[in-house]
Amino acid sequence: MMQAPVTVLQTNTRRDTGKKAQYGNILAAKAVADIVRTTLGPRAMLKMLLDANGGIVLTNDGNAILREIDVSHPAAKSIIELSRTQDEAVGDGTTSVIILAGEMLAAAEPFLERNLHPTVIIRAYMRALEDALRLVDAAAFPIDVQDRDQMLKIVNSCIGTKFTQRLGNLVADLALDAVQLVKVDVPGGTPEIDLKKWAKVEKIPGASLEDSRVLRGVMFEKDVVVPGRMRRKIANPRILLLDCPLEYKKGENQTNVELAKEEDWAALLKLEEDWVARTCAQIAALKPDLVITEKGLSDLAAHYLTKAGISAIRRLRKTDNNRIARAAGATIVSRPDEATERDIGTGAGLFEVRKIGDEFWTFIVDCEDPKACSIVLRGASKDVLNEVERNLHDAMGVARNVVLDPRLVPGGGAVEMAVSHGLAELSTAGGVLGNEQAAYRAVGAALEVIPRTLASNCGANVIRTISKLRAAHAEKSSSFGINGNTGKVEDMRELGVWEPYEVKAQTLKTAVEAATLLLRIDDIVSGLKKRG
Ligand code: ADP
Repeated sequence: MMQAPVTVLQTNTRRDTGKKAQYGNILAAKAVADIVRTTLGPRAMLKMLLDANGGIVLTNDGNAILREIDVSHPAAKSIIELSRTQDEAVGDGTTSVIILAGEMLAAAEPFLERNLHPTVIIRAYMRALEDALRLVDAAAFPIDVQDRDQMLKIVNSCIGTKFTQRLGNLVADLALDAVQLVKVDVPGGTPEIDLKKWAKVEKIPGASLEDSRVLRGVMFEKDVVVPGRMRRKIANPRILLLDCPLEYKKGENQTNVELAKEEDWAALLKLEEDWVARTCAQIAALKPDLVITEKGLSDLAAHYLTKAGISAIRRLRKTDNNRIARAAGATIVSRPDEATERDIGTGAGLFEVRKIGDEFWTFIVDCEDPKACSIVLRGASKDVLNEVERNLHDAMGVARNVVLDPRLVPGGGAVEMAVSHGLAELSTAGGVLGNEQAAYRAVGAALEVIPRTLASNCGANVIRTISKLRAAHAEKSSSFGINGNTGKVEDMRELGVWEPYEVKAQTLKTAVEAATLLLRIDDIVSGLKKRG
């Protein structure tokens, strides 16, 4: 008897296998790289995008561009994911990593055509990566993170390609201040710098960019509960932070109370009132000037607090509360009856509610040693502020990386060229043999895409410039790169174009690993739809 064929995959899907899958992936990676190619370097072009909500995004940040565009090829998606990971890991090099990964994959194409097995190519790539990292290591040199001028120069040179270039030191200053503020020294170890958690950017349109600053403390968009009667400005406030409601506790789930007699109502209300009165009395006994809770606060509680001369703010975000706790030296309390003097924050110099535009903002500032901060960005419009925020994010990434690992490598494609040259030398030195050798060399050649793109983006004669650069490196001038503004081959150490070691190493690692991952794929199933 004939058996019906077993259907393993749905038939409405698209399936590419073997070489076809690999070529498809390479094509997709190249396409994504082509999108961001023109945004690399100081002469970067901007992209204008329409986001999903119909808003306009103007940017030359590779990661921001790719976040907005909608792609369907799985490999393109994975490449885009790559740029996000890079952004999260080191906060910079997002364009470079995409361009490099695309080039590494493109470089594998001829080997696939010659029927070299992908695992051989992958082996060669990984080996080249190991050597490349060693070469980057050799090109790195240490810096002094205490030297503010030098740090400003470094941050500026790393983010100099972005939109805020004309603002001088503004963004770099903000970034360095923020990193200094949230840095916690670990004795005998690398400092802890968690910008995501402890530094928050608040964007307020309606003033000039020069008015942006890093607060020694925290701000958030809230007003006191009873604006007319609670104090809105207190010097050296005693702050109590709560993450529980100051109203009679409702059940977690929907709870219903059924009452048979009318008097029971009165009893129930009395119970609630008593609880609130008792709790407020306990709070007042600690003599705080300001009580902030993440939850609700009833009118009755507001009344008691006002009577005790305490200002109160309700429904604050958990993350903001955490920052206040750190900045003012307070502990967030879950049960007001258990709060003690030790939980009160006294580290802030000033609590004030100010009106900016139409909104009220609470400031808890002038902290002695905040370790958490808000960064106020002011600017003419939302679009400008969004782009400045992206730049600031990059700048903080650079500042953080350099503080954590105070080593730099020359930028402008210099280190890529040096590594490329080094790999070429190593490949002939006899270490790499057989059919791996060509693929190993291909990694080195692919690295040239960075200086090539920089040259091409400022309109230089690419072939002539690159051969000149190769010649310079052959003569051991390993810090020579492309001046991204003029397209000339120059010494990057003299020009002052640097990049953090950490970023370069990570870029290389991510690009090669992504390329090898995609090469390992020999079957792509796409178009899978949920059955409705
Ligand atoms: P990414 O998102 O990858 O950081 P960028 O657009 O910031 O992309 O470009 C960074 C590249 O531009 C780096 O390779 C850096 O060395 C180079 N670069 C930055 N400024 C200059 C300059 N003035 N001259 C030459 N190259 C530069």
